[in-house]
Amino acid sequence: MITSWRIGAATVTALSEYYGPVHVPDRLFPDLDRAVLREHRDLLEGRFWYEAIDRLVISVTLWIVTLAGRTILIDTGIGNGKTRRTPRANMMNTVVPDWLAAAGAAPDQVTDVVMTHLHADHVGWNTVRDGDHWVPTFPGATYHVPRADFEHWAEIDRRGEAVDGGSFRDSVLPVLEAGLVRWTQAGDRVADTLDAVSARGHTPGQLAMWLRSEGRAAVFCGDILHHPVHVLRPEWNSVVDVEPDHAAATRQAFLAEVADRDVLVAPCHFAPPHAAFVRREADGYVFDPIGNGTALPAHARPAQGASARKDLSASEKAI
Ligand SMILES: [Zn+2]
Repeated sequence: MITSWRIGAATVTALSEYYGPVHVPDRLFPDLDRAVLREHRDLLEGRFWYEAIDRLVISVTLWIVTLAGRTILIDTGIGNGKTRRTPRANMMNTVVPDWLAAAGAAPDQVTDVVMTHLHADHVGWNTVRDGDHWVPTFPGATYHVPRADFEHWAEIDRRGEAVDGGSFRDSVLPVLEAGLVRWTQAGDRVADTLDAVSARGHTPGQLAMWLRSEGRAAVFCGDILHHPVHVLRPEWNSVVDVEPDHAAATRQAFLAEVADRDVLVAPCHFAPPHAAFVRREADGYVFDPIGNGTALPAHARPAQGASARKDLSASEKAI
C-alpha cells in the first residue's frame, strides 16, 4: 500500500512493507485491559483490532519525504532475506524495492536515509545481500543514525549478544563501514529538512523527526506510539519499550504536544491509512485516522489523487 499526503511544499508517502492482525493484545501491552478495546470498538474493530481472533493489526511502514530536491527515506522496515527470531520477519521476500521505485524512492533517487531508532524493523532496507555480504541499498545516500541508539546497541553487540537476530551487524554496521553514516542527536537539523527531537524510552536514543513546511507540520515519531491503543492509553508501555519510565513520559509529552494542533502524526506501525491526527477528549486523547474521509483537512488530502493511482499502477507493472 502506498499513500501520499501534501504537507506544505513537501510530499509525504507511507509505504507499508506488510500489515496484518499479528499481535496478541496483552502480549504487546502487558497492562492491557480489553474493556478499553471494546469501549472503542467503533474506532478499532476491523481496522486496528480484529476482535474475532483477538489480534491487533500492525503495519511495518516506511516513510518517504520529498522536498526541495531531497528524497528522504525515514525508517527502512525489515528487509529481504534477513535472519530474524520473529517468524513473520524471518527471511522475508517482498517487492518493496519495486514499491519504493514506484513512489519515487529508487536506490539512485534516495538522497538521505533517516533512522528514528535501530530496532530490526526500522533498519532492514538499509542493506541488501550481495553474495556473502550486506551492502548499502542506497549507495549514494547519507544514512543519518541516532548516535545514542548506536552506542546502546553497539554495547550489546560487544557483549556478544545478537541484536534482534543480527540486525546491528547485517543492517547497521555495513553502512557505517561504507562511510555513509552521519550521526544525529536531538537538536540537529537532519538532511536540511527535519528537526530531530529526543524521543527516549522505546529505545535509549530514539529521535522523533519533525517536518515543517509552509505552516504545516508532520512528525515521524518512530515507536513512541506502537499502536493506536497507545493514544487511548499512553500509560501502557509496550513489551518492546527498552526504558519503560522514559517511554511512558515521552509518550505523554508527545501526545500533549501534537493534540489539537493539526500535526500529521506518522508512526511506523499504524494500520492503513498509517497516519493520524490526535485530539483531546475528556481526560485523554483519541485519534482520527487520515484517509477515512471523516477527518481530512484540506492540507492533508493526498498530494495528487491521480499520482497516487499512477504510483500503484506502476508498482503493479513492476511486480
Ligand atoms: Zn518498530
